[in-house]
Amino acid sequence: MAEKVIIIGSGPAAWAAAIYSARANLRPLVFEGAVTEANRVAGTLPLGQLALTTEVENYPGFPAGDLKAYLDTALPEEKRAEMPPHGKHGATGPELLELMRQQALNFGTRIITEDIKGVDFRVPCTHGRRPFGLFASDGKTYEAQSVIVATGARANYLGLPSEEKFKNRGVSGCAVCDGALPRFRNKPLVVIGGGDSAVEEATYLTKFASKVHLVHRRDKLRASKIMVERAETNAKIDILWNRTVEEVLGNDREGVTGVRLKSTVGAEDLELPIAGFFLGIGHTPNTAFLQGALELTGKGYVCWPVPMRTFTSVPGVFAAGDVADDYYRQAVTAAGTGCMAALDAERYLAEHE
Ligand code: NAP
Repeated sequence: MAEKVIIIGSGPAAWAAAIYSARANLRPLVFEGAVTEANRVAGTLPLGQLALTTEVENYPGFPAGDLKAYLDTALPEEKRAEMPPHGKHGATGPELLELMRQQALNFGTRIITEDIKGVDFRVPCTHGRRPFGLFASDGKTYEAQSVIVATGARANYLGLPSEEKFKNRGVSGCAVCDGALPRFRNKPLVVIGGGDSAVEEATYLTKFASKVHLVHRRDKLRASKIMVERAETNAKIDILWNRTVEEVLGNDREGVTGVRLKSTVGAEDLELPIAGFFLGIGHTPNTAFLQGALELTGKGYVCWPVPMRTFTSVPGVFAAGDVADDYYRQAVTAAGTGCMAALDAERYLAEHE
């Protein structure tokens, strides 16, 4: 028997889609991703990007406070035992995701901790006659009448061992997620990149930092004119041209303490004391498993062809969250489109039964 809806992913978009489709009696089956070393290295472990952040201060409904009693009662004891203690702040990324996952389970969502490695989304001659095929990392093929793709995107990193070592201890791929943390307050920070994201991150970080060094590998920013102007006129932003990162410096106690930069035009190496190292070098949507089954945008994101709908190029397949959104990229917008995808899938199934 084909499933009514299969959801691929385990970030806010996937769990919102699961909660809504479970409450619509669609008995969703979620593939949350496999726990493998390959996924750890790629930054695609279950629960996604939000699980890589610490406090989430901008998710509506979770102001700072002592959530301990709530977490203890909302989540099973065995799950709480494996989570770090709550520290009387707003919810952390992992806490929020465990709550979302639990909420989906409470309404009857079934979860498989495997990756989807390939798909067969060939459109049936008559809608509903032939289900979609999903090939999982457990070697099995699963069938569904509708599919919600919510596999997210991953921030690009430079790939340096020193960068990997200090992830979450001063190295971040998301200024909006992490910029306001106490460790970065009134301290010099570095942002790598020369596009709109990097300039936006640098500008955002000037609210907290004493100084933001924007490090770009060329002598011209790729960012739009208005963003360039913003960077150049912000007294707290110092642009370092023609520089690449040699090494992120730090220690176990403090995390990031500095960065060593190389020159691309033969100048001396430069060592800067910094408390934070932010990447603004773009994102990669997790779409490789689709192998051309859905139309993608020029930047490789799943294409939403109809405004304000989560439809994809294949009727019956919907997309939600960062895998289709390279613009807002927030937990709350991902959850919003997850809800939309569940409603779109429900209507599709009702029309094609
Ligand atoms: P992007 O435009 O692709 O820029 C990536 C930047 O990172 C480039 O400057 C690139 O350098 C640099 N870079 C890439 N790999 C690097 C590496 N290994 N080492 C050092 N530098 C590296 O990506 P984005 O800034 O994330 O923007 C993506 C899209 O979203 C764009 O269309 C942008 O306009 C849009 N966006 C808009 C806004 C806004 O309007 N507010 C905000 C964010 C994003 P090179 O320039 O040398 O290639």
